[in-house]
Amino acid sequence: MSDVRREVVASQVQEILNYFGKCPMCGESASARRITAQFTDGRVLSEDIAECLGYCGWKGAADSAFLAGAPPVLSHGHKNFQAPDHALPIVASGD
Ligand SMILES: [Zn+2]
Repeated sequence: MSDVRREVVASQVQEILNYFGKCPMCGESASARRITAQFTDGRVLSEDIAECLGYCGWKGAADSAFLAGAPPVLSHGHKNFQAPDHALPIVASGD
């Protein structure tokens, strides 16, 4: 890519309520959350991250095979708008 620097203008974290995975390291239950970031160029990326609820501290990509039911059930997220000093309009993803 070029030297265009992308910055996050907004991010949101939502719990995935119907994720019932297991930690691949220690076998404890794992929880998952979806992290969505919007960048200054308008792109929106989201990533599902699983995390061990035990003590080993494992984190990794959430495996959709552990979802109970097809679409992930997301909690209401905390949306964090990082104060842009260049006032960009925040476009809500329309769905
Ligand atoms: Zn673990």
